[in-house]
Amino acid sequence: MAYDYDDSNIFARILRGEIPNNTVAETEHTLAFRDIRPLAPSHVLVIPKGKYVTMDDFAENASAEEIVDFMRTVAKITRDEGLSTGEGGNGFRAISNAGNDGVQEVPHFHLHILGGRVIGPMIQLRD
Ligand code: 5GP
Repeated sequence: MAYDYDDSNIFARILRGEIPNNTVAETEHTLAFRDIRPLAPSHVLVIPKGKYVTMDDFAENASAEEIVDFMRTVAKITRDEGLSTGEGGNGFRAISNAGNDGVQEVPHFHLHILGGRVIGPMIQLRD
């Protein structure tokens, strides 16, 4: 069964320039911008420009070039935000929610980069 991409999702609209965003990095294949409702002092969303619904869709179907470009952008963000432990930073958490059980709000693959404070326990399940 294929992944069903919805062209009307909010990140597709950001990529089409229909909605403004606070861009922190942009490459040929990747866009990174600040989350509109930040959950930490540094909260950046990294998204591929291609139409991928979830992380596993991206991992399975994106080209090697897109995947490398995405991951290098993640490295740039952690460095630029002062989070990289390789550059004297205190670290960060990267989260990707997928589908119903992952409680994904926007159905365009994105990685949350959260840092600038201790992020807390890994997860808190709620019923
Ligand atoms: P998800 O729950 O899908 O992993 O997270 C979606 C994230 O997108 C949320 O953290 C939410 O605050 C963020 N978001 C939703 N709409 C917008 C928007 O229009 N602009 C920006 N920058 N972030 C958004």
